Amino acid sequence: MSVAPPHQKAKGLAPGKPRPAKALCSECGLCDTYYIHYVKQACAFLNEQIAELEEQAHGQSRDLNNEDDLYFGVHQQMFAARKKEPIEGAQWTGIVSSIACEMLNQGKVEGVVCVQNSDEDRFQPVPIIARTPEEVLAAKVNKPTLSPNLSILEEVEQCGFKRLLVIGVGCQIQALREVQDKIGLEKLYVLGTPCVDNVTRQGLQKFLETTSKSPDTVVSYEFMQDFRVHFKHEDGSIEKVPFFGLNTKELKDVFAPSCMSCFDYVNSLADLVVGYMGAPLNYQWIVVRNDTGQEMLNVVEDQLETQPVSSKGDRKNAVQQSIPAYDKGVTLPMWAARLMGVIIERIGPQGLEYARFSIDSHFTRNYLYVKRNYPEKLEDHVPEFAKRIVEQYELPED
Ligand code: FAD
Ligand code: SF4
Repeated sequence: MSVAPPHQKAKGLAPGKPRPAKALCSECGLCDTYYIHYVKQACAFLNEQIAELEEQAHGQSRDLNNEDDLYFGVHQQMFAARKKEPIEGAQWTGIVSSIACEMLNQGKVEGVVCVQNSDEDRFQPVPIIARTPEEVLAAKVNKPTLSPNLSILEEVEQCGFKRLLVIGVGCQIQALREVQDKIGLEKLYVLGTPCVDNVTRQGLQKFLETTSKSPDTVVSYEFMQDFRVHFKHEDGSIEKVPFFGLNTKELKDVFAPSCMSCFDYVNSLADLVVGYMGAPLNYQWIVVRNDTGQEMLNVVEDQLETQPVSSKGDRKNAVQQSIPAYDKGVTLPMWAARLMGVIIERIGPQGLEYARFSIDSHFTRNYLYVKRNYPEKLEDHVPEFAKRIVEQYELPED
């Protein structure tokens, strides 16, 4: 059994107790464990240190003068892919679950940190350490709610795992990178997804009730590259709602404060990132950040159909116009929103330009949020790459 190097421990906080990051806590789970001792350095909302951790994880931080690096972080390659045989019920085609299953099958790892759901509620996250492909598959599909993935870190150390794969979103991975040397692992693989606009379970209910015609039958949803939210229902039907028809006034306080102040949309510190927003519709977007990421990708290479990434259109006007519209909570009537959706899908940004559109829209919104609500944090909390991205736009005066 491997033994973790001696490290400091403090008593994890009980559920419901205020967290050190207060309202900005994303419930990543670190503070549920004795690793809370490291919270001041580790917490993504108390200590922004993406550049330093990029250096640690990838051997270099992003080149701010290279546009692809600026937007998408350190990477060796990016491409679009989908599974030749998609996993039924996965969020997309199931590339994430497939990699995790193969890593277990090939004996590269002993366990996979992932998120299942509770028996009563398909959206209530339950982090686990999966030891079999069946347990990994039971964690497929997004739980679009804050999930305390790192709450199982003590268990990882106590089980004496040597080789572990962790699946997670940016804030979870930032905290993990800070404490990864204390868990007793010989090898850690980090498989990330991009993440944005996450919500508490209550917030999710409000979002579903405000936006879907049948909130109780939604099994998953995604903000798609065709500028519509696609809700998948229990009977397999897809309901499409144009972004421009969302009730922004009602939804303004739905997203968690942590997500309104996050600038790590692309999961900068994962070894391999699997999302969708830089790929054409129906493809996933793969970003290999380092050799460990490539090693994970290799285990599923023969299961994938791939194509190069591409980029079309110009996002800048659309982003600039959306800033005051979002700020004022403008909602178009549904007919106009649908029409706008059709037009922008034809002439709007596509591929990597769509990903930049989404990053720009969220970073400008989040910059304003931090500036207005946490002005004392603005300078230190917003990473340099995000400042450069936001500087391209005119923001409303307060
Ligand atoms: P699957 O094989 O279905 O596996 C999904 C995996 O996600 C599971 O292993 C599960 O453990 C993990 N997971 C589920 N919920 C959570 C959670 N709350 N926290 C941590 N891990 C979780 N991609 C983009 O390109 N742009 C986006 O804007 C974007 N937003 C996202 C928002 C959220 C909240 C999440 C969780 C993901 C987001 N993604 C985004 C990633 C994308 O939706 C898919 O998750 C990704 O492409 C993988 O799809 P898949 O079919 O391979 O995953
Ligand atoms: Fe703790 Fe994570 Fe919340 Fe930060 S985000 S206060 S590390 S639980």
